[in-house]
Amino acid sequence: SVVTRFAPSPTGFLHIGGARTALFNWLYAKKRGGKMLLRIEDTDRERSTEAAISAILDGLKWLELDWDDDVIYQYSRAARHREVAEQLLASGKAYRCFATGEELAAMREKARAEGRTRLYDGMWRERDPGEAPAGMKPTIRLKAPQTGETVIEDQVQGRVVWQNENLDDLVLLRGDGNPTYMLAVVVDDHDMGVTHVIRGDDHLINAARQKQIYDALGWDIPNMSHIPLIHGPDGSKLSKRHGALGVDAYRAMGYLPAALRNYLVRLGWSHGDQEIFSTQEMINAFDLPAIGRSAARFDFAKLENLNGHYIRQADDRALVAQFESVLDYVPDGATLKAKLNDTTRAQLLRAMPSLKERAKTLIELISSAYFIFADRPLQIDAKAAALLTPETRALIGQLRTALEVVTDWRAETTESAMRNFAEQNNLKLGAVAQPLRVALTGRTTSPGIFDVLAVLGREECLARLADQAA
Ligand code: GLU
Repeated sequence: SVVTRFAPSPTGFLHIGGARTALFNWLYAKKRGGKMLLRIEDTDRERSTEAAISAILDGLKWLELDWDDDVIYQYSRAARHREVAEQLLASGKAYRCFATGEELAAMREKARAEGRTRLYDGMWRERDPGEAPAGMKPTIRLKAPQTGETVIEDQVQGRVVWQNENLDDLVLLRGDGNPTYMLAVVVDDHDMGVTHVIRGDDHLINAARQKQIYDALGWDIPNMSHIPLIHGPDGSKLSKRHGALGVDAYRAMGYLPAALRNYLVRLGWSHGDQEIFSTQEMINAFDLPAIGRSAARFDFAKLENLNGHYIRQADDRALVAQFESVLDYVPDGATLKAKLNDTTRAQLLRAMPSLKERAKTLIELISSAYFIFADRPLQIDAKAAALLTPETRALIGQLRTALEVVTDWRAETTESAMRNFAEQNNLKLGAVAQPLRVALTGRTTSPGIFDVLAVLGREECLARLADQAA
């Protein structure tokens, strides 16, 4: 059965391209009723950090991309990697190389001058290790074929062919006995039973190198899919400004995991012109050959729109929970969090149908829910403050008197009280609603004013009106 794997290097956050790779691996495994394994490629001891590992695990969990079995840490398998290198040495498919740093540098120089991509000249391929200078630690190199072709049949890229004369005798084991990345990936994918490798096309050349190692070992290479990288909206390499951020940054910007998944699946993969996919629809429709060959372009506006769609169709209670959880990731979230209690949660839930109509992100949702959590006297923003003239303050006072008589406080009852008030004073409803909004929310925009009245309740409304009345 199908086994895919996501194999991030823990040298930084889980970036958006990595998240898409994880999603594709996850979808394909789910579609085929198989497994997705997670392998942390921590062989680079200098650059791998615990913080990066946590960020990757957290990011995957937030995106709800669960992996099967235990996480595999590549570094813990170094002994196995060495064993395979020794096996290749014993079978004559690899050899010890004693070239010095200066010799290698000279080879590189020469190759460059002659315009060759193969850098190593094979000086130790056939030489007796007995000729090596005493005490020198050799590297172990693959005795790669020098003629013929190396071919990858890639699900996305098609048939890709390299001339062997252009490929180097790869180092498998370094002088210090540490395996190279190339060897480790092959041995791990083999031992983990990986059937499908799905990763960024920056690894395509590695596929050729890895194929040579598979061949030397007599192992089958997994099915390969190299997916085009994500580019900026202008086609250039994805920069921070264009969205090359960690998944945690998207979380902090108020995107829902379901929306981000939907956005990511469409980056480079399509299914007719369908834009919106439930998770199950994605699993059903996803397939490797449908991944495009050209780079996908990141588009924030599209992501926002999609997020707005997911917010509008989300369950109100689920949104309250999302609202709460994002507070841990936003600058003044702690202040709001301290104000969450049964009353404010109920108010939030009551306001949610109205709040979610307008918000494209959870941050916008938080901002428009500000009125629920605001302390009295309200901070009135500049635009709203401009509407507080002596006349409107007087109006607020009269309005308060008109509303005070409403005892059965609901959206409908407050609405009819306001309509009567407007009629008696020969005012348009808007002329009454706007000062009311300013007094109750401190803003010039808010959810529907009758919803605001109902959410805040009678006492709080009357108190806020009193604060601003002349
Ligand atoms: N560790 C590699 C990376 O993070 C991926 C290797 C692979 O998928 O084979 O780019």
